[in-house]
Amino acid sequence: MSRFFVKSSMIDGSEITLSEEDSVHLARVLRAGTGEMITVCDENGTEYEAEIFSISKREVKAKITDYKKSATEPKIEVTIFQGLPKGSKMELIIQKCVEIGVSRIVPVETARAVVKLNGEKSAEKTKRWNKIAEEAAKQSGRGKIPKVEIPVSFKEAVGKASEFDMAIIPYEQHQNADIKSYLRSKSPGNIAVYIGPEGGFEEEEIKLAKDCGIYAVSLGKRILRTETAPLAVLAVLMYEYDWE
Ligand code: SAM
Repeated sequence: MSRFFVKSSMIDGSEITLSEEDSVHLARVLRAGTGEMITVCDENGTEYEAEIFSISKREVKAKITDYKKSATEPKIEVTIFQGLPKGSKMELIIQKCVEIGVSRIVPVETARAVVKLNGEKSAEKTKRWNKIAEEAAKQSGRGKIPKVEIPVSFKEAVGKASEFDMAIIPYEQHQNADIKSYLRSKSPGNIAVYIGPEGGFEEEEIKLAKDCGIYAVSLGKRILRTETAPLAVLAVLMYEYDWE
């Protein structure tokens, strides 16, 4: 059953109106007809089963037949602060992290991040990245679309650590800081993870992170690529706090 995401403002009583983009996709690409069932999720994690009753080229309306709290959202909310990687790696990171269970991704302009985005480019890239997140959320059956924020500086990123129950920064120079015992020392509702770009973090960045209460952890003896590390950490966190 096709899955779509709407703002709760698009739900009027038992009727849901899809966005123009989703309506066109349903009508033209999926060639859906009245009577067909779809799944629609709102931004509060509620999942509706709905029957299409009106379909035109630009607008689809469906009638809610059932609803429930989404069962596919993780118990723990993970925010990945990702050092801006080169090329299209960010798109891969977003797609895979959404499938695994990330809640939010914040691109970070760290000292060694080769990619520097100015205002317009930053907004353009962020729009594209959120589209990737939406497509991955549809494919993986998520109850919400994880948000990809506008890129921030490293200082801003670590300044947000206090908003979380737990914050970790994987740092390959810290071979003795094992992630397992730290994760088991608390039962967080949310956690922040700071991943470096291809060139890693500067020593001063690690010091600033620690000053902000962020705990440096090792991901083992092998060096993971910047596009591998967030996936590995996220899978560990899901295993530890979410997967039954
Ligand atoms: N300094 C690395 C090197 O020597 O190639 C480059 C950084 S690595 C490609 C990208 C990021 O992944 C790092 O900044 C770190 O956040 C994380 N990372 C990769 N391997 C790790 C490991 N074994 N332990 C902790 N963090 C790791």
